[in-house]
Amino acid sequence: MPRQLIAGNWKMNGLSVPGARLAGAIREAVSAAPPPCDLLICPPFTLVGTLAHVMLGSGVAVGAQDCHAKVAGPHTGDVSAAMLKDAGATAVILGHSERRTDHGETDAEVRAKAAAALAAGLVPIVCVGETWPEREAGRQEAVVAAQLAGSLPDGFAGTGVVAYEPVWAIGTGRTPTEADIAAMHAMIRRVLGERFGAAGGRVLILYGGSVKPANAAAILALPEVGGALVGGASLVAEDFLAIAAAAQV
Ligand code: PEP
Repeated sequence: MPRQLIAGNWKMNGLSVPGARLAGAIREAVSAAPPPCDLLICPPFTLVGTLAHVMLGSGVAVGAQDCHAKVAGPHTGDVSAAMLKDAGATAVILGHSERRTDHGETDAEVRAKAAAALAAGLVPIVCVGETWPEREAGRQEAVVAAQLAGSLPDGFAGTGVVAYEPVWAIGTGRTPTEADIAAMHAMIRRVLGERFGAAGGRVLILYGGSVKPANAAAILALPEVGGALVGGASLVAEDFLAIAAAAQV
């Protein structure tokens, strides 16, 4: 079994001094007591290069929260996967529900970005998840299956990571039941196997949505949960590290 991955999504948080302080605290703690999992922090674009430098040799990887689908060109304000790689990133979160909502990102755009990330040598972490009305209507599995079909490019398995993040659980303090998380992860595993064969069986499937130190151990112990994508709690070093310490070996 591959090591679990605990990934921190800093979202639009982190000026240079507090960002470096948070990264430094994580670096120090990890060097004193290495966690039983892989660690990734995804700060805003402005800190990717600096924090990749801070984390050099620490075992903690640095990623970004989005990229453009093209390598370069007339796309004012955008950042390409190749630029992120050049800045020291190893991974990129794609299709987060906040981007799907704030920027109207479609599955096709997420798929193109994921293909660009793979081409640049980055690990694409593709987010999928249903809204609360979709879950209430019993449509959660159909919604997530459609997002997977539309958002994952060919060649995704082997490198890419999927993050199941129910939209209604992000930043709300609400989480699905353990049975609901296990059922969704089993469905995602089945879909990945049907699409990618044996390689689909090895794709890490993270759970994201209000993961905290108090619920991390129970969530990370569920079948087919390959780690966690952590938002709010990744901004507090002790909380992020406590979640990492709860990883399964
Ligand atoms: C996220 O932003 O991906 C996330 C899961 O946020 P939170 O942990 O704050 O719910």
